Amino acid sequence: MFTYIDPNVRARLVERDKLIRIDSGGRRIDVDAAPGDGESISILGPIPLPLDRHGRHFEVQWYASVRHTELSKVQQLADVLRQSRSQQVFAMLASSMAVNSVLLIGDPLQNGDPLVRVHSSCMTGDVFGSQRCECGPQFVSALQRIDDDPAGGMIIYMSGHEGRGIGLWAKAATYLLQDSGENTYQANRSLGLAEDSRDFSDAASLLKYFLKDRPFRLLTNNPKKIEDLTALGLHDITPVKHVSGVSQANRDYLSAKRDWGHDLTPEDIDR
Ligand SMILES: [Zn+2]
Repeated sequence: MFTYIDPNVRARLVERDKLIRIDSGGRRIDVDAAPGDGESISILGPIPLPLDRHGRHFEVQWYASVRHTELSKVQQLADVLRQSRSQQVFAMLASSMAVNSVLLIGDPLQNGDPLVRVHSSCMTGDVFGSQRCECGPQFVSALQRIDDDPAGGMIIYMSGHEGRGIGLWAKAATYLLQDSGENTYQANRSLGLAEDSRDFSDAASLLKYFLKDRPFRLLTNNPKKIEDLTALGLHDITPVKHVSGVSQANRDYLSAKRDWGHDLTPEDIDR
């Protein structure tokens, strides 16, 4: 485990049940168990996180989650690096791990059918507020809708999903291609990359762990996301349309999404 966290601190977190491990089916397994078949995920939390977005306050419980195998590799190398006190390489190592986040809002572990958003990270949209996509407004609107919902819910923030899974560097290149007339999917193909290479298996494991077998509603316009999660063993997912942040700057982008299969009407895009 994260041995840039002192091993004694790690033991304390395990003892307090703040560091746990689940298998791909969302079942808890021993934190020190040897890697078995299939992927397992380490989860750190809950951590109270007061949020302020656009002047509105939200109280959420944050969980950080990372694939155990990724973590173990980092751990082994971190041990070696600690001995050599190589802080710089250490930082490089940590930054290469895809740490996903779960934000619990309200009391979704108990009530009805929670409202869920599986959000793909988008540095330009979520952080910078870029209008080339609608990720930023979709994130804030999801936070508001879940907070307003009596059943509560959660946002799973997929940190490795930048540019539909191609990474920020390639996404920057696709923006330049798009400015020469290609749409968002063509640009990926021009770079020899899949149109959508997002892997939702960690999201599926986290949903199984938190919600067990309960039905839930998913904020999405993308039928493929529902198909992917269903193929990963989740059922009873009700899609809930999630349109926000439409602007002149992203109308073509949204049209391309609609042509690709997103559940968007001309009215959604032209409003
Ligand atoms: Zn975006």
